[in-house]
Amino acid sequence: MESNSKWIGFINPLSSESQELLRENIDLENLFENNKELIDIILNIGEGIFDNDEKIPKNPAELGLKRLEWFFREKNDKQLKINEYSYLYNPQIEKYDIISFHLLAQAIGYKFNINSREVKLFLESQNRLMEERLSRISPELREELINNILSQLSDVTNLKWTDLLSLIETKKIFLEDLLIKNSKVILTEEDFREYYYEDIKNWDERRIKMVYEKIIGKQVKDEIMRQLIITNTEEYLKKIKEKLNIIDIHHSIKKLGELIEEMLNILNEKYSTVYGEILSGGLNGENLKGEKLIKDAFPPCVLSTIEGVKSGNRNDAIVLFLTSFISYSRLHPNVFKLDQHMNLSDFDPNLKITYDEILPIIYEAAENAVPPLFKDQPQEKINITSKLGFGMHNEVELNHEGETKWYTPMSCDKIKMHLSNLCHPDKICKKIGNPITYYSYKKWLLQRDGNSNSKNNEANKKK
Ligand code: SF4
Repeated sequence: MESNSKWIGFINPLSSESQELLRENIDLENLFENNKELIDIILNIGEGIFDNDEKIPKNPAELGLKRLEWFFREKNDKQLKINEYSYLYNPQIEKYDIISFHLLAQAIGYKFNINSREVKLFLESQNRLMEERLSRISPELREELINNILSQLSDVTNLKWTDLLSLIETKKIFLEDLLIKNSKVILTEEDFREYYYEDIKNWDERRIKMVYEKIIGKQVKDEIMRQLIITNTEEYLKKIKEKLNIIDIHHSIKKLGELIEEMLNILNEKYSTVYGEILSGGLNGENLKGEKLIKDAFPPCVLSTIEGVKSGNRNDAIVLFLTSFISYSRLHPNVFKLDQHMNLSDFDPNLKITYDEILPIIYEAAENAVPPLFKDQPQEKINITSKLGFGMHNEVELNHEGETKWYTPMSCDKIKMHLSNLCHPDKICKKIGNPITYYSYKKWLLQRDGNSNSKNNEANKKK
């Protein structure tokens, strides 16, 4: 029979073995450095990932991000090829998997509220991973493993049936499947022997084991074990939050928190139902193509920036936020739908649209700012050129393209955090996570209503 030792931490990253392994191997200073051992393991066991380097996690931080990405895509991406994340089910990554679990917990505990959807996503992803991993091992090993883990979980000896309400309510287990004594759920063989000692004391070993296995079903134990690990994970996150009140979090964990937020925003943009609606809304994605800007479809934050920013963050509002919003909305509104990085000239080869339609709006906003941006800080023109991908120069010129990167649009969360005075959300804002999605969606609504108005006018004329 296979050994189950390597599986314990792979299923329960909070076990004492896992904690010890974590203490011995975690290296926060080099969290984002390529890890040769991990890369070698992934290259050895991975499937369907060699066509794209981005699919290969190269350090424990990236492995953590992949865990969340896998779960998000499993729920939302119908095109997902299951092989792409096959390494997540292979216990050869156990050590790095445990590290990545704890890194994620720290970063999520630091960055998000305990009731946030990000925390929920993390917990659900852990539950789903356990389920998927358990489904891939032989029935004998699986049973032995679950018994082992259950006996290690301290809460298991004090488990009441009321602790399992969420499982009962979702019909994952039924009350009548549980062996309950004085409201306590009997799960381990030790407890079974102790609580029913008088009834079974004269039985032989074989019979005791057989009856125990029969009464306490495998499925019940599996569900309960996973539920207990998830409950412990929730407690772990709460403790992390409490600790953060007294100690400063490591800069690498902060960085990972930012990356998680960024990745989830991008995934949300890519797979959100709003995007789906736009794409399947009868316009065949036409509104995601670059076309003349429609001011009526701009979100409130963009309108207030163009009308004139009055407060201290005037420079960031125009250089970081507006420049990327206007350029991507006009030329490449489906930026979050495509994975590869593009240059501005891929959409505007002779820069005519940039000179005639994009820069005039940005410069208008700079002029309307109080005080006007270029009057006291003319060097900001260079920063605008740089954010469009044309290096540190006063003018946008093709021969400088690529010297800097075309800066992608800021998410609503970032705007709320850094440029909060610009954000005056309206009804549409509730459905989106990025102003560029607002723009695409509102444009689609305007076009749809315009079409139906013109159809109504036609019908009225015929009457
Ligand atoms: S929610 Fe987003 S799109 Fe709406 S105003 Fe705020 S930043 Fe702009």
